[in-house]
Amino acid sequence: MSVSRRAFLRSSTAAATTAAAAALAVSPALAGAALPSFPDLAGGGLAGPGNPAPGTARAARTPREALQLLIDGNRRFLADEPMPLPTDRRRRLAIAQAQSPFAAYISCSDSRVAPELLFGRGLGELFIIRNAGNTLDTVARGSVEFAVAELGVPLVVVMGHQRCGAVKAACEVVEKNRRFPGNIGRMIEPIVPAVLRARGEPGDFVENSVRANVRRTVEELRTASEPMLLDPQRTGKVMVVGAYYALDTGRVDFFDVPRAA
Ligand SMILES: [Zn+2]
Repeated sequence: MSVSRRAFLRSSTAAATTAAAAALAVSPALAGAALPSFPDLAGGGLAGPGNPAPGTARAARTPREALQLLIDGNRRFLADEPMPLPTDRRRRLAIAQAQSPFAAYISCSDSRVAPELLFGRGLGELFIIRNAGNTLDTVARGSVEFAVAELGVPLVVVMGHQRCGAVKAACEVVEKNRRFPGNIGRMIEPIVPAVLRARGEPGDFVENSVRANVRRTVEELRTASEPMLLDPQRTGKVMVVGAYYALDTGRVDFFDVPRAA
């Protein structure tokens, strides 16, 4: 882990941040320690009679190994293969003291787009930030920083999806000057620059905007972030990728992945 817990906490003087870290129950003793990890569904199978116990699998993964786990999981989801999830008592107890998720996820709140279900992952495997339109506000940004700097997550995924209501609303703001009540208007403001970028592209305006919104967030995480996110990306310990989930097919398209180093 390139950034220690102490450094992480030092980087922010806000009491709220300290409180948030405490709420996430992170022990200083865990910094740099091998955290319990769960065998891949693709490899060791579920813990249980005849299977490896949680904690015996590799704790550290490369970004591309983590991405492959998601790709394999989505392939099973598409094939309607049974995916017994690590959510039983044994798993719960194994991770009760510490978590070691292999990917952080920024995804839409849309009820049809639950990352764990799309990839067949269970407790303690994905660190998920969800909001309508999968935007990168301060809370999302801080959560990603926490996942990378504190939990050692090697992969960050930003995922948009087909017919996203939040992106569609941002398209209506741009095209029809529509206004939304309450906080909805402010919530979709960060999507508008992506919509403006997608305007004029051939194809479906909303779907192009969904991808542009993902690309913009990915770009920000890759270039306009704190050193705690940029440094591990430079050294190849962390990768940020963009994805699109098609409601019609169930397929997740990882369309914005850095070229292999
Ligand atoms: Zn959405």
